[in-house]
Amino acid sequence: MTVLVTGAGGFIGGHLIGSLLRDRVSVRAVDVKPLTDWSQLHAGAENISGDCSDLNVARSVSADVEQVFNLAADMGGMGFIETHKAECMMSVLINTNMLTASRQAGVESFFFSSSACVYAAEHQTDPDVTALREVDAYPAMPEDGYGWEKLFSERMCRHFREDFGMTTTVARYHNVYGPDGTYDGGREKAPAAICRKVAEAVLFDRPEIEIWGDGEQTRSFMYVDDCVRGTRAIADLGDGDPINLGSNELVTINELVSIVEDIAGITLERKYLLDAPQGVRGRNSDNTLFLKKHGWEPSTSLRSGLERTYDWILCKRERAVV
Ligand code: NAD
Repeated sequence: MTVLVTGAGGFIGGHLIGSLLRDRVSVRAVDVKPLTDWSQLHAGAENISGDCSDLNVARSVSADVEQVFNLAADMGGMGFIETHKAECMMSVLINTNMLTASRQAGVESFFFSSSACVYAAEHQTDPDVTALREVDAYPAMPEDGYGWEKLFSERMCRHFREDFGMTTTVARYHNVYGPDGTYDGGREKAPAAICRKVAEAVLFDRPEIEIWGDGEQTRSFMYVDDCVRGTRAIADLGDGDPINLGSNELVTINELVSIVEDIAGITLERKYLLDAPQGVRGRNSDNTLFLKKHGWEPSTSLRSGLERTYDWILCKRERAVV
């Protein structure tokens, strides 16, 4: 069996491929970036640099493949998606063409990585948020740009299943973090950005940390190993309804900063940037459905996942200084 992973040069794709290869699965890996820019390049995979929004490329990479993990997207953290809505929506071309090509190639199973950004804003106005259930995506009012594209592509998966009999599966990822993720350049998400800022404070003897918003907004963060395990479980089960894949360990951004400070053994003065992008006020994952279907839920503690992430980012930053 050959498995295709798109977005293979990105954060989650790189970890997913590692997991598949460890289980001796044959992997074809594709990403629009040149191979030299992939976050992890696995020698055991067939690695291809190609643009999946081009139907010809989508067709050629889908040939002779049984299972597709479609992770490719033009995305980033809040700082990116709030300022690049058109680019985020252009990912619809990737999803349309990958679904079309997969159907034509007779792919047996198609996984789509959706996001908690599909959830309607009205359920996320309070830091003391009620965890989001799958039904809370409708009536629809998702994150503008990125969230609308994800919701639309979820529905394309549904209609390819209903109209063409394809097995499609959809996970709604809630904030994934870990080593080998983007940690600078503008696309990084909160855990990586905070680890980087604290690491820089340590390395350059800086007394202060900048925090976007008042730090009282809440989120849950899923360690990448849990994400990979859940992704494979969802794809293997083959159930088509979109399902949450996230941790339900809710923290404020201030608490997240405190954990990273504690790991680094430092206390910093906090400077709050109240005009910076902050997204919704509160967001958490209701894992009732996932637990029922899979018998487990993402449970790596934020503290232990952040220890590994901080160490990796500190190491990267140290090397950049030397
Ligand atoms: P990432 O940005 O690290 O990886 C995405 C990869 O897709 C990048 O390497 C990018 O070059 C590639 N790509 C973009 N356009 C492409 C194209 N036209 N053809 C081929 N490759 C293309 O992101 P990630 O964190 O690994 O996320 C993977 C998937 O999970 C994405 O679909 C993302 O929207 C979704 N997701 C991620 C999170 C998270 O917290 N990381 C949360 C919700 C959803």
